[in-house]
Amino acid sequence: MIKHSVSKTAKISDVDVSLVVPFYNEAESVDVFFDKLGALLKKIDCPIEILCINDGSQDDTLDRLIKKKEIFHCIKIIDFSRNFGKDAALTAGLDFAKGNCVIPMDCDLQDPPELIAEMINKWKSGYDVVLAQRSDRSQDGFFKRITANLFYKIYNAMSEAKLPENVGDFRLLDRKVVEIINACPERKRFMKGLFAFAGFKTATIKYKRPPRKKGESKWDYWKLWDYALDGITSFSTFPLKIWTYLGVLITFLAFVRGFWIFFRAIFFGIDVPGYASLMTAILFLGGTQMISLGLIGEYVGRIYIESKQRPIYVVNDVIE
Ligand code: UDP
Ligand code: MG
Repeated sequence: MIKHSVSKTAKISDVDVSLVVPFYNEAESVDVFFDKLGALLKKIDCPIEILCINDGSQDDTLDRLIKKKEIFHCIKIIDFSRNFGKDAALTAGLDFAKGNCVIPMDCDLQDPPELIAEMINKWKSGYDVVLAQRSDRSQDGFFKRITANLFYKIYNAMSEAKLPENVGDFRLLDRKVVEIINACPERKRFMKGLFAFAGFKTATIKYKRPPRKKGESKWDYWKLWDYALDGITSFSTFPLKIWTYLGVLITFLAFVRGFWIFFRAIFFGIDVPGYASLMTAILFLGGTQMISLGLIGEYVGRIYIESKQRPIYVVNDVIE
């Protein structure tokens, strides 16, 4: 049984806010990030810890983070044994966080630290989740805008817990929300979906997403496609059902057509049906069968991964 009874008045920890920041090959970003954050943290009057997850960086991100610890004593570094991906890094952050609320944020300053104070104020006024929502996507290219929009439409049409549009991982989560997410045992962790699954009283803050300050994005279109597929298959079985309905429709049409051919042969004599229509039917049916098989494969693959019960991430070291 999960306890839901943690409230903002009954504190369970001395740390009020845990910032969870994943780093993957971000040596260039470390200084800029902490320069900006440091200036802002002085204005926030509550105990904070900064959990830096080094997600198997191959550059000197880890050394730079360790150096930062000399200035920022509230830093705790969780060093992964290799790269496990951002969702695994966030999962580790939520597992290790001690705060009464947790804020996951990117280290490239695309999630503006200026919003943290506003998020905390909203939290203190009684909200359990505070979302940071992009007011527009003008920074993104045309194709990215269209595909992102399409993803939200498809996902929300198929899944029970709706994803708020244009909201990333940057948000504040109360301890009770964190406990729910930590209790979700799945290995494939589509964090946006898990956040939405948890629910709770939610406020939204709008902001304009700035471009990345240093370094490069770790995402390409192929990774985004995989991510979208993971998201949909993790939270909906609707794609599996489509084929039942399509099968019923095609069977019905085939029956009507067959009846028509039979009728025509009886009353107007036998004729040879066209090669083109035969080929079209064979190819169409072959195609849909392959797609449906592939889709079932996607789900079976995920069941396989889940059934192995491997850890979501492997920690090499925790530097406190
Ligand atoms: N990140 C990570 N592991 C990965 C890829 C990315 O921890 O395998 C971190 C990265 O260091 C950054 C955040 O996730 O702090 C967002 O990454 P990025 O800026 O590349 O994503 P985008 O903003 O383009 O969506
Ligand atoms: Mg980024």
